[in-house]
Amino acid sequence: MHEENIELAIKVVVVGNGGVGKSSMIQRYCKGIYTNDYKKTIGVDFMERQIEINGEDIRIMLWDTAGQEEFDAITKAYYRGAQACVLAFSTTDKNSFDALWDWKRKVENECGIIPMVIVQNKIDLISCAVVTQDEVKSTALKLGCHLIRTSVKEDINVVQVFRYLASQCFDVM
Ligand code: GDP
Repeated sequence: MHEENIELAIKVVVVGNGGVGKSSMIQRYCKGIYTNDYKKTIGVDFMERQIEINGEDIRIMLWDTAGQEEFDAITKAYYRGAQACVLAFSTTDKNSFDALWDWKRKVENECGIIPMVIVQNKIDLISCAVVTQDEVKSTALKLGCHLIRTSVKEDINVVQVFRYLASQCFDVM
């Protein structure tokens, strides 16, 4: 049991190429909303959500790159203290899939070995997929990461991503 005022919290960074749905995912998870162009209207880079796992309250603190990845300009502060990571790519963007290796390396350089999960987003567009599911599975295996397929748009599996990471961090569940 944890002492009353000790709060469990984890900082999770969400990385991946621009356009894969990172901001949308954070927005969906923390606010329960989805829009086609949220960055243009809101532009917040930190959000949080509290969840309960095995009776423990856990605060999931999420940082968005806020478009910095476009310019390879993610600051060290963004990664500092991160305890878990989402490596995201899009079903419809081959470059974002190929870039998973680079993203994993970058995060490991900054944060060391932390729990990571590969998120294949936009599975609602699976009919336009640019990679086969076999390729995705084998890459996830080679990267040594669990794979979760999501549609932020249709609210499929988003909650599972952060539950998985929280459970990895605290070894509960
Ligand atoms: P980011 O640059 O990685 O933060 O990506 P955004 O969150 O800005 O999303 C890029 C575009 O993809 C936006 O137009 C989103 O509405 C759209 N998008 C995000 N998630 C999904 C999804 O699951 N399915 C579909 N079809 N579009 C999505």
